[in-house]
Amino acid sequence: MTAQPATPDAGPGALRRTIEQPGGFATVVELVPWAGALQDPKGAKPLKIAADLAGNTRITALSITDNAGGFAKLPPDVLGEQAAKHGHDVIVHVACRDRNRNAMQSLGWNLLSRGLSTVLALSGDYPADGYEGMPRPVFDIDSVSLLELLRKLGDEATAKAIEAGTDPEAAAKASRFYLGAAIDPFKRLERDLVPQFLKLAMKARAGADYAITQVGYDARANSVLKQWLAQTGLDIPVIANAFVLTGGVARTFNAGKVAGCVVSDALLEVCEREAKSPDKGRAFFLEFAAKQVVMARGLGFAGIYLSVHKDAGDVTKILELADAHPADDWRSVIKDISWALPGTVQPFELDGDGLATPEIGRAYAASLTPEARKRARGAVSPMYKFDRFLHDRVFTPGTPGFNTWSKLYAKVEPTVLDKPLHVLEQAAKVPLFDCRDCGDCSLPDIAYLCPESHCQKNQRNGPCGGAHDGQCEVPGHTCVWADAYQRLKPYGEELTMLERDIVVQDNSLRRTSAWGNTFLGRDHYARAAKARAKGAEGEQA
Ligand code: SF4
Repeated sequence: MTAQPATPDAGPGALRRTIEQPGGFATVVELVPWAGALQDPKGAKPLKIAADLAGNTRITALSITDNAGGFAKLPPDVLGEQAAKHGHDVIVHVACRDRNRNAMQSLGWNLLSRGLSTVLALSGDYPADGYEGMPRPVFDIDSVSLLELLRKLGDEATAKAIEAGTDPEAAAKASRFYLGAAIDPFKRLERDLVPQFLKLAMKARAGADYAITQVGYDARANSVLKQWLAQTGLDIPVIANAFVLTGGVARTFNAGKVAGCVVSDALLEVCEREAKSPDKGRAFFLEFAAKQVVMARGLGFAGIYLSVHKDAGDVTKILELADAHPADDWRSVIKDISWALPGTVQPFELDGDGLATPEIGRAYAASLTPEARKRARGAVSPMYKFDRFLHDRVFTPGTPGFNTWSKLYAKVEPTVLDKPLHVLEQAAKVPLFDCRDCGDCSLPDIAYLCPESHCQKNQRNGPCGGAHDGQCEVPGHTCVWADAYQRLKPYGEELTMLERDIVVQDNSLRRTSAWGNTFLGRDHYARAAKARAKGAEGEQA
């Protein structure tokens, strides 16, 4: 018996149809735009891949990256439109690095107008280089708020079309996005890995319809992700990643030159050896990718995401090799494609094949006991304890402290004392938190760590995918979310740290008193509370 082939469906909307079909398995092929105009000779290869794959019903969609690696390239919608002309369904990547929220809205309407409604929402790699030096990154919103923005934008467009008399099903088809999110299950440390899972849940709440994994070469990690989703009841289809290696790519990933893409030393050794063969390891690397396809089918992923940058023939070859593996023997490939970094956390016990079982990993379980948490609380810094104490008594709405300070700010703000009070606030917050005076404070959201000064991408709704071993993808910093996870765990709050409203920072509050904005109901907490109240009123009406 051979493996079940990808569900044959192609053309506009094929990804959604395939993924939503029980047991559907999508094959997505990545295309990377080039630095130049559409007619630039550099585009010949990706354009040829799109053309060569036209009419191939095994290919569910082409997926176009957005300034991948932080380098300026042709926008993905331009290449996406060319791919669509060949009849392909297209995933357009949208990264938060280069556009503010207004540009995102414009882009959203632009994409809907052009029928490019399947999107992968990303924070985006930190900029790498640019015209006359390093560009200033935007990161006005993050991937979670981008998902929410695009979902709302699509819902509004649909509602307007229905109001104008369009059939509801046709309106939704024409005006709603099919939204994707990224998830990186290949982290070594618990403090990097678990927040990734928590953020995926938040992305699903924000509107993600499907997810795609980051580049990684560890079948065990893929099984951990599936096990985590099963145990937390998070029902989101996930497409597994298979970036086809070469010796050079393996070296680049191993050296940490592409944020979030990891190749272990042991896997690098194998890749280096294979790359010395007469075919430069081509047969080995295509078989390696085929095994990842087999694994994805066996573990119940919703599809495979193939990053093949040479030619369309490689895609066909990988699928043929994968089909040749007996479906009932998919576990036999696992050991060949499990290349975890040494010391990788085991949230679950593993079975004989090295795949996650439903049993919680012994060491991880031991760290979750009340005794372990109590011991860990003994090492918590007095300053963090004080921050929590102060927040509970003064900054929590409804407490006597909050009410007193609200009254005080209401009296002081219209007077000349307003400025000195702001100076006093900064005198406390700059040395304690490296505060940047954004005016819409997220300290309580991130265990009293400032995202403006401690996160290079100002991520307010969980970590981006770039952290490695607790370090930010931008060298010289720890990851603010890994640190927050560590701070919250002794209190048993780490698993719920993202079970809260999505934070969208209001830039009109910059250089104004965050305390005043909190006590007088102008910050994101107050805005979220008002939105909740409005929603509840709407439900009652
Ligand atoms: S601090 Fe963490 S979330 Fe922020 S940019 Fe760095 S790796 Fe990403």
